[in-house]
Amino acid sequence: MLAQGLLAFGIAMLLLATLLWIRMSSVEKRQKAGLPPGKVLYADNGIWHPQSAPLASPTLRLAGKPDYLVEQRDGMIVPVEIKSRAAPIEPHHSHVMQVAAYCLLVSEAYGIRPNHGIIQYRDRAFSIAYTPQLEEQLLDTLTDMRHDMSAFDVNRNHAQPQRCAACGMRNACDQRIG
Ligand code: SF4
Repeated sequence: MLAQGLLAFGIAMLLLATLLWIRMSSVEKRQKAGLPPGKVLYADNGIWHPQSAPLASPTLRLAGKPDYLVEQRDGMIVPVEIKSRAAPIEPHHSHVMQVAAYCLLVSEAYGIRPNHGIIQYRDRAFSIAYTPQLEEQLLDTLTDMRHDMSAFDVNRNHAQPQRCAACGMRNACDQRIG
């Protein structure tokens, strides 16, 4: 009888330890990924949840798939973009615009405007405030992009030889540098 009781107690302790380990492991993973506290709604790299459809806004003709969507305790949903490279001193403008676009898509999809998005580089995370100014900048950029897509000729918008060196269009582009 005593042996059975001890066995049951041992199994209960083992279960409890396993549950605690799973919980701690999940918290640790989330902290390592720089994720804010909250429930991960979906992840497109398959670690947190199975892949899901991209977020889309037919009115804005915009679609995109953040790496993570995190629902915070107050119900706000925050998009997270993971970059495998080391963090620059400041996040690249294109990455900021990408997160802004995800914030816009989240607003449309869930009807709750996120007040920030997150860029997680390999070694550091940046919180990007999704301000009305950033949203306006994004909408202006989208308008410019649509205009450029229908234009016959588009001028280069940067002075970075390294971008041209890595560009798949360089052989056909008469504006390449180098
Ligand atoms: S090669 Fe042309 S298209 Fe490619 S990055 Fe340079 S300017 Fe842009």
